[in-house]
Amino acid sequence: MQLDYSGKKVLIRVDFNVPLDDEYNITDDTRMQKALPTLKHILEDGCSLIIMSHLGRPLKKKKDDGSIDVEKFTLRHLVPHLSELLGVEVKFCEETVGEKATEAVEKLEKGEVLLLENTRFNEGETNGDEELAKQMAALGDVYVNDAFGTAHRAHASTTQVAHHFAADEKEFGLLMEAEIKNAEKVLHDSERPLTAIVGGAKVSDKIGLLEKLIDFADNIIVGGGMAYTFMRAQGGKTGNSLVEEDKIDLAKELLEKADGKGVKIYLPEDSVVADKFAADAATHNADSDAIQDGYMGLDIGPKARAVFADVLTNSKTILWNGPMGVFEMEAFANGTKAVAQAVAQATEKGAFSLVGGGDSVAAVNQLGLADEVSYVSTGGGAMLEFLEGKELPGIKAIRG
Ligand code: AMP
Repeated sequence: MQLDYSGKKVLIRVDFNVPLDDEYNITDDTRMQKALPTLKHILEDGCSLIIMSHLGRPLKKKKDDGSIDVEKFTLRHLVPHLSELLGVEVKFCEETVGEKATEAVEKLEKGEVLLLENTRFNEGETNGDEELAKQMAALGDVYVNDAFGTAHRAHASTTQVAHHFAADEKEFGLLMEAEIKNAEKVLHDSERPLTAIVGGAKVSDKIGLLEKLIDFADNIIVGGGMAYTFMRAQGGKTGNSLVEEDKIDLAKELLEKADGKGVKIYLPEDSVVADKFAADAATHNADSDAIQDGYMGLDIGPKARAVFADVLTNSKTILWNGPMGVFEMEAFANGTKAVAQAVAQATEKGAFSLVGGGDSVAAVNQLGLADEVSYVSTGGGAMLEFLEGKELPGIKAIRG
């Protein structure tokens, strides 16, 4: 971050989309913690801070009478904890924009912090309404975007608002800078060999990523439910495993394309198969291309774990998106565990490792290995789209 904020009213968009329990207590404050360095850095300059964030999807989950469930989705619930984290008594405004918000901003003194109400209470937020963005922009002298998790959305508070500030009146926050720097390192400045691990449920969710990876990875490890569509593409028998029939041809094409480019694709040689999708299922190990009817592959098997670990510990750059099995159930978590440990080992040996996107992040956190990889991304969908090579609207709006 480079701007001097002294004496300014700083409008910042963060991602405070934290989970709350039934009594509206914050059950995981990671996202607030991640924004903290930026908030503190800005406040140190001697300015006032106006914070915007979304929380949940209030317009999609309205009350039966069609009104917004303010009690459930208000950012007011976050005020005590945010005050504690910042060491400043945070003020709250029940509007994002409007007369009350303008008045609250006008009254704001140096060193004070104002949290505005949930941006998604406004109809215009998610469709990037120009008028709403203009009203938001009028609240601050400068704009900072530190909400990487929503950078792939052209929303009013993440993208359109930035168009109302000159190039020297807007910048990324520290979290956003770190996310971009680490993803760009993998994409453009990586030591070889580069191995990508792609897992999770479906091929269809990861097509863009797989296509991009074939252009720049040396090895692609495929695990999780999506591996079985690839197994079928190779003529294997997959029993009751998750297979996207309409993606089998695509999987074939991806395999051929990778082969043509000299990119090695590693599929799991064996699997832990189960007679039902349940924690107490009867299980055994089987070759992934010879799974009996009545059984489904829910994790990679011991042979696959050993091969994948070997590839990983010999890699210099690693990108991981998606678990190797149904890791939420203990019986099917060993594959994800083994891969996480191999990534940690490779990192210890000097490799750069980026864990990006949803469930693999949850897995690494659950296994307590988050500090043993180089970088854990906070943006699921955003990181996926960034790695696919798409230009994220929230980033473009700042960079121009
Ligand atoms: P994704 O969000 O695409 O990364 O997918 C993550 C989900 O994929 C997790 O909830 C896993 O339980 C699920 N998953 C992983 N492996 C399998 C599998 N072999 N069969 C079915 N679901 C799986």
